[in-house]
Amino acid sequence: MSVAPHPAVVLGHRFADELPEMAVPWRAEEAPDPRVLALDEELAAELGLDPRWLSGPGGARFLVGTAVPEGAAPVAQAYAGHQFGGFVPRLGDGRALLLGELTTTDGHVRDLHLKGSGRTPFARGGDGLAAVGPMLREHLVSAAMHALGVPTTRSLAVVATGRTVQRETPLPGAVLARVAASHLRVGSFQYARATGDEGLLRRLADHAIARHHPAAADAEHPHLALFEAVVAAQASLVARWMLLGFVHGVMNTDNTTISGETIDYGPCAFVEGHDPAAVFSSIDHGGRYAYGNQPAIAQWNLARLAEALLPLLHEDQERAVELAVASLDGFRTGYESAWTTGLRAKLGLPDDLPGADWEPLAGEFLDLLRTHRADHTATFRALGAAARGDDEPLRLLVPDAPALERWLGRWRALGPDAGTADRANPLYTPRNHLVEEALSAATAGDTGPFERLLDVVRAPFEQRPGLERYASPAPPDFGAYRTFCGT
Ligand code: AMP
Ligand code: MG
Repeated sequence: MSVAPHPAVVLGHRFADELPEMAVPWRAEEAPDPRVLALDEELAAELGLDPRWLSGPGGARFLVGTAVPEGAAPVAQAYAGHQFGGFVPRLGDGRALLLGELTTTDGHVRDLHLKGSGRTPFARGGDGLAAVGPMLREHLVSAAMHALGVPTTRSLAVVATGRTVQRETPLPGAVLARVAASHLRVGSFQYARATGDEGLLRRLADHAIARHHPAAADAEHPHLALFEAVVAAQASLVARWMLLGFVHGVMNTDNTTISGETIDYGPCAFVEGHDPAAVFSSIDHGGRYAYGNQPAIAQWNLARLAEALLPLLHEDQERAVELAVASLDGFRTGYESAWTTGLRAKLGLPDDLPGADWEPLAGEFLDLLRTHRADHTATFRALGAAARGDDEPLRLLVPDAPALERWLGRWRALGPDAGTADRANPLYTPRNHLVEEALSAATAGDTGPFERLLDVVRAPFEQRPGLERYASPAPPDFGAYRTFCGT
């Protein structure tokens, strides 16, 4: 087989150079027969990579990490993490590699990271591999989140390796090539702190400032400003999840980024019937990461970041704690502001409307959703039609006509705008039954349904004829949805 010559891909290694204690030089496992299953051509172009080359045999070997450009220095990253509340001091990339850092055509630095590229020294009992289904799931849901305007890591490509992965059944293996502002997490800081090496912690914090929150460098107290910037980014992120009905499913501190991007689409799902207690992950028995718990959990994770940063905040421990507690309060205000702004837009209401005029009404709308387990996505979207004078879609979703009539009367009096509501309320999200259908077909070799669904969720706000089934809740026989992580 002839392999296309390698174009001049330049992969930086600043993380590995500046934080060698947290970077283990490593290589990907050979893949017997790499073939590109999915490629985000738009993202490739942003990264200055040629999509035609990427989708060919040379690109496939690059994307599984077996053809490494000259000068690159792939590493497995070390990190710690609280998993379901329990601290694990050494997690790290068990089946992943940071291939290197790319610079986008508009000058931003992005990690190129592989998942499913083989065992590393952090693999513990795992096989280091990933299956086609879960990697296509991450490709699909992260593309949907990006199109929905949510900060997220992105999937450049999913490449079938030609290797069989043993799970409950033998499955086709794959590598996901992921792009992120970085892979620094709360768990990275917990790892650095746990080493007891304050110089490492300081270098990590300075690296994070340079990479993500450069304005913090000019603040009076740069490390406190870094903490506040992460708090603000996470508050705004989780508010967006809540507005969309997105349940991350595994909000461990190792899955909480410093950049404020959503990361790790393992057991995630979108709620259909609105329910704060909604849990999809098969291992989340206590509902720790339930839909309605997400803001509180994010704040808990940020408190763990504060603990890790304490030695940098003040030499007097007590004073350091006071500073951290005061800054952590920024989560509440940041979250409330992002949630309120987003909810007002979802209701189609103008920006300058005083809170007292509409917030109680918004609360009552959410009560109606919860009481009737109304479909989160469809019910909010039906507000656009209602603002145009057609209440029928909303009536079908909220089966309490008198309560709905009363609510609609008061809402109309506020002058809702259909266009504002339609721009804030997506029509197409990756609904659980459609995702499962697409992944089952792809695992069996037919990527058609996956490609169609991807196409739909990439333009989530734009109604198109013939796509009704993509905007409809799962049929009742789909049953309770369960998701799995670490697959
Ligand atoms: P995740 O649930 O994907 O965030 O992963 C949590 C931790 O488990 C990370 O340290 C992963 O690298 C590791 N891990 C997950 N699956 C595997 C696997 N199949 N082989 C090795 N490590 C894994
Ligand atoms: Mg993870």
